[in-house]
Amino acid sequence: MREAGILYCNCCGKKIPEGYSRETEDFFHFEKTWGYFSGKDGTRQTADICEFCMEQWIAQFRIPPQTVERTEIFEC
Ligand SMILES: [Zn+2]
Repeated sequence: MREAGILYCNCCGKKIPEGYSRETEDFFHFEKTWGYFSGKDGTRQTADICEFCMEQWIAQFRIPPQTVERTEIFEC
């Protein structure tokens, strides 16, 4: 969630430090518009979750998300 230009984690409420570029920003942004049959018809939800809360959240998954090691390193 962004308020007055500062990014906060929706989960813990802490400030998310922003990097110099999109590549170095480590947080999870989600945006979801619910469909007709979801019971939240047409509702749009957005949130930003910091890396720590993301880890906590993922730990509760029965099936962990697929993790792919990045093998290509892009250098500027
Ligand atoms: Zn958090």
